[in-house]
Amino acid sequence: MAFSLTQYGDMSWTVSSVLGTKHLFTRRLGGVGDYPYSTDPDPAMDPVRERVREIWLRLRERGGFPEEGFCFTRQVHGTVIRAVGAGDRLMPPIRVRPEDCDGLITAEKDVPLCVFTADCVPVLFSEPEAGIVCAVHSGWRGTAADMMGSAVSAIGKMGGHPENIRAAIGPAISRCCFETGPEVKEAVEALLGADAEGLCPPEDGVPGKYMVDLKETNRRRLLQLGVKEEHIDVSPDCTMCLSDVYWSHRATGGQRGTMASIIML
Ligand SMILES: [Zn+2]
Repeated sequence: MAFSLTQYGDMSWTVSSVLGTKHLFTRRLGGVGDYPYSTDPDPAMDPVRERVREIWLRLRERGGFPEEGFCFTRQVHGTVIRAVGAGDRLMPPIRVRPEDCDGLITAEKDVPLCVFTADCVPVLFSEPEAGIVCAVHSGWRGTAADMMGSAVSAIGKMGGHPENIRAAIGPAISRCCFETGPEVKEAVEALLGADAEGLCPPEDGVPGKYMVDLKETNRRRLLQLGVKEEHIDVSPDCTMCLSDVYWSHRATGGQRGTMASIIML
């Protein structure tokens, strides 16, 4: 299990060795419109539409994705996962985002599922026996509301089994940088029970603040749900420490683009 970097011209992305199907986690480099909507499929401003179109054309070609485009969702920090198919594919720039949810799932081939993050945790899943892929956005609210449980359950409803699930937890803000108040620590402890041990240490010298490991929280939750340890890969990259190559909401004060995490059967 390991993440590796693919450099394609001026674009780069990381991939995990665990998923066994086409996928990628983009970085901020190689965007055409570097700020603010470099990979966002729903530009609010007309001047960026051509740049957005350009980057999606490049990503489609270089990543080997279908001409019809990608499946998107309007993320709302919840845990709803929507089943999509070939008819849901869109090629950016798009004016109206699809319905609100934070995960997409499909058992159809050539249907790329796309979620966006910039510090939050992207998780891509494959279930190779049943032929299912799933992509979710899991920030601290989604993590605490059990997005991992929602994903494993959605895969199960389509005929998959936890012991076959592969999960790649992508680049996200890491414990080194994710300073939170007690509400995040309490939510992680409520989710994991005794398994939250050591995940939310108090910040040195800052009363009432904690350093929370969201990637590890999601990994431990997947273990609780029956996903095998050897089937879970975790990116070591912290988006805030590496804000020169990743978009970080915290590092930029919200003046940012966003990374796409994409998986397809
Ligand atoms: Zn960091």
